[in-house]
Amino acid sequence: MAVIEPIARLQEEMTRWRRDIHAHPELGFEETRTSDIVAGKLHAFGLEVHRGIGKTGVVGVLRSGRAERSIGLRADMDALPILEANTFAHRSTHDGRMHACGHDGHTTMLLGAAKYLAEALSFDGVVNFIFQPAEEGIGGARAMIADGLFERFPCDAVFGMHNRPGLPLGKFAVRAGPMMAGGAFFDIRVTGKGSHGARPESGVDSVLVASHIAIALQSIVSRNVRPLDAAVVSVTKIHSGDAYNVIPQTAQLSGTVRTFTREVMGLIETAMRRVSKGTAEAFGAAAEVDFHVIFAPTVNDADEAEFVAGVCAEVAGAENVNRNPNLIVASEDFSFMLEQVPGCYFNIGNGAGEGACEVHNPGYDFNDAALALGASVFARIVEKRLVKAGD
Ligand SMILES: [Zn+2]
Ligand SMILES: [Zn+2]
Repeated sequence: MAVIEPIARLQEEMTRWRRDIHAHPELGFEETRTSDIVAGKLHAFGLEVHRGIGKTGVVGVLRSGRAERSIGLRADMDALPILEANTFAHRSTHDGRMHACGHDGHTTMLLGAAKYLAEALSFDGVVNFIFQPAEEGIGGARAMIADGLFERFPCDAVFGMHNRPGLPLGKFAVRAGPMMAGGAFFDIRVTGKGSHGARPESGVDSVLVASHIAIALQSIVSRNVRPLDAAVVSVTKIHSGDAYNVIPQTAQLSGTVRTFTREVMGLIETAMRRVSKGTAEAFGAAAEVDFHVIFAPTVNDADEAEFVAGVCAEVAGAENVNRNPNLIVASEDFSFMLEQVPGCYFNIGNGAGEGACEVHNPGYDFNDAALALGASVFARIVEKRLVKAGD
C-alpha cells in the first residue's frame, strides 16, 4: 500500500489550500483567518466543529460506527515573525510574518485526512482533529489543555507530525522514548553593592559575581548530569552597568537549558539555584533565580512509536522509515499533550530542492509533494487503530 488513492486525487486541491495558508500567515493566538478556513472546511466535510479551544484552536470530531475508542490527530497552525525571502507566487502577503516552519503544510495534511475519512468512514470509533494555535514558544498546546481539550475530547492516544528538512521526500523518522528536547529559559539576578569604580573595597561587585556564576554554571552538565544524559546549559545574555567609573549594584544573566527528560531538567534547575546562590554568597552578594520550563521533552510512548513506524512503513515502504533517528535538541509543545495522553510525534521528510533549507529560515517552504503522503499516514493511523469490523 502506498498513498491512499482518494487522497492522491486531493493533491492539487491540498496544494491550493497549503499555498493560500502560506500566503496569509498569522502569528500565535492570532490565527483567525486560518482557523476560519479550518473550521469552514471541517464543517463542509461533515464534522462536528468546536472553536475557541485555546483561543484560536479548533477541534473537529468525526464519528463512525459505534465503538467508544478515540484518537487525536494534531496539527499546528501558527507562523513566525520572519520576513519571507522567497519570491514565488504564494509568498507571504504580510511583511514580517511567514510560514517558515511548515505549519501550513501540517494543517493542510490534517485537513486532507479529514476530508478523506469523512467520505470513506473507514473506521469504527471517534477521531478528534486537533488544530492547535501558537506552537512557536507561546503556549498553544498548554492553552488547549487548560481549556479542557482532553476532558471534552477524550483520546486514547494522540499523534502529531512535523516536516523535517534534510530528511528526503518520501521518508519518515520516528523513535520510541525521547524524540525532542525540553527547553527552559532562566534569569539570574545578582545583587551586590554599588560603589565608585575606584573604591571596590566599599562595594560588592555584581559584575565579578555574575562572571563567576556564568563559569560555575558550566560545571552542571559536566559534573552533575550523568554522562549518558544529553543536556545543554547556555548563558546567552549578561547585562550590567552603564558607566566606566561605577561598580554596578546589580547584574543579570539569562539563558536556556535543554534536556530530554523532566528528571534531568529538574536536576539542572536545582543545581542552578544552588550554584548561583552559593557563588553569590561566597562574594557577599545575593542571587535570585527564575527558571521557566517553556517546552516539556517530547517523549514517545514505545508502543505508539512502534505502531506509527509500522503505519509509515506500510504507506512509504519499510526502507523509508528511520526508526532510530538522532535526538533533536530543538523543542516542540506537542510534548505537553504527550504528557497527558500516550502517543507519538514523528517526522516526514521535506526533501531537497526549492525551500528545502532549515525551518525558521527566510527561504524555507513546505514541500507540497509531501502532502498526500502525510495525509495518507494520518488516515492510515485512524484506519489501523480504529479498525472497522469486517475490514
Ligand atoms: Zn518552528
Ligand atoms: Zn514547527
